[in-house]
Amino acid sequence: MGKYWDAGIETLKFEELQKVQLERLRQTVARAGRSPFYGERLRQAGITSDSFQSLEDIRQIPLTSKDDLRAHSRDMLTVPLRDIIRVHASSGTTGQATVVYYTRTDIELWADLVARSLYMTGLRADDVFQNMMGYGLFTGGLGFHYGAERLGAMTIPAGAGNSKRQVQLMQQFATTAIHIIPSYALFLLTTFAELNVDPQDLPLRLAYIGAEPYSAETRQRIEEAYGLKAYNCYGLSELNGPGVAFECPEQNGSHVWEDSFLLEVLDPETLEPVGPGVVGELVFTNLTRQGMPLLRYRSRDLASYDDQPCPCGRHSRRISRIQGRTDDMIIIKGVNIFPIQIDRVLMGLPEVDANYLVELKQEGANETMVVKVEVKQDYFREDLKFLKALQKKITEALKSDLLVTPRVELVEHNSLPRGEGKAVRVVDYRVKG
Ligand code: ADP
Ligand code: ZN
Repeated sequence: MGKYWDAGIETLKFEELQKVQLERLRQTVARAGRSPFYGERLRQAGITSDSFQSLEDIRQIPLTSKDDLRAHSRDMLTVPLRDIIRVHASSGTTGQATVVYYTRTDIELWADLVARSLYMTGLRADDVFQNMMGYGLFTGGLGFHYGAERLGAMTIPAGAGNSKRQVQLMQQFATTAIHIIPSYALFLLTTFAELNVDPQDLPLRLAYIGAEPYSAETRQRIEEAYGLKAYNCYGLSELNGPGVAFECPEQNGSHVWEDSFLLEVLDPETLEPVGPGVVGELVFTNLTRQGMPLLRYRSRDLASYDDQPCPCGRHSRRISRIQGRTDDMIIIKGVNIFPIQIDRVLMGLPEVDANYLVELKQEGANETMVVKVEVKQDYFREDLKFLKALQKKITEALKSDLLVTPRVELVEHNSLPRGEGKAVRVVDYRVKG
């Protein structure tokens, strides 16, 4: 197999890739038209599979929103229920969870994309892969599980949480690769310390981190502490789950698997396409999905794209790190802030430990942003002068990046709430008008 899992597709030149996309777009529109929801939508817009002379013609199709999916997912099925073999749901991070349905072919195609992604980063059949994501309705667990098995790696379905057991499993099976939520990867270091195990002494060499926005600084911390290469993986249940875009060994943006997903990057206000390097909302159209293909789905995730061929030999476009979701943006004192900006500043400071929490408060006429920051044990001493200076340093660093002065509170290592899933970084106590 060599360097690529599916060389025929992965090394297609961009123009060739676009031909494949156009053909698959026509097929997908024909297929989606069989569902009650899209049948009606496409009829109203006067669109048939013959409407597409070029990929730009996709703009005639109305966008699909998360609310459409919440209200109509069952009506988006193109096949009878007897052909559906699996359901998943989104985590419900920003409201009611959305439900997605898969046929047998959908599950196989998805597993193949995940296998392709893992292979790209160097995972092989000799590896021992510990999947530390929640199994169940969340796509991160089973999605990676099937992909890693398809590739042939020995897969440990560890699931989320149960930190001591995770470390023990790594020791017992000599785990070489892990799939883990980045905030949990930092948190788990505490457990390693408690058990007196140094992750560097384990044969770990690869980590897959995604499911929540995080900064390059967080990745660097994980790579250094564990002594491995950590790759960004992006996906959303609405389109399958993980394996929509994945980092290659260059670690310079994530390749969107454009043979399976048609990507548009739109200005979230005007809905006009933006050019390379400009941050916009990622909008995806499934190109191979059978049971429930989505057309022009607004992910609400914000990122930019790079269309230059990558030194790894793949030509599919790469997306930047997700800056946040359109609904994650903090607006305080008229300034827009994404949580990832705070992550970048805090994780770049050596005194700061793994966890922090942002609280937005209304105090009389004033809005306040309180940033509670866990300080590493070594720095959390009773020297008041030192702590005051550290508090000032963190405040200044945040202020110069965010242009808002937060109230920084230093707290002890491991004292902030921590779940097993996606981290909750921002709590808004302001009364909504
Ligand atoms: P929910 O939207 O309820 O969290 P999902 O479990 O389907 O449901 O999660 C998908 C979302 O997780 C994406 O839309 C994105 O916001 C976030 N996400 C997934 N992977 C990444 C990543 N690598 N970087 C940043 N955010 C990510
Ligand atoms: Zn590449």
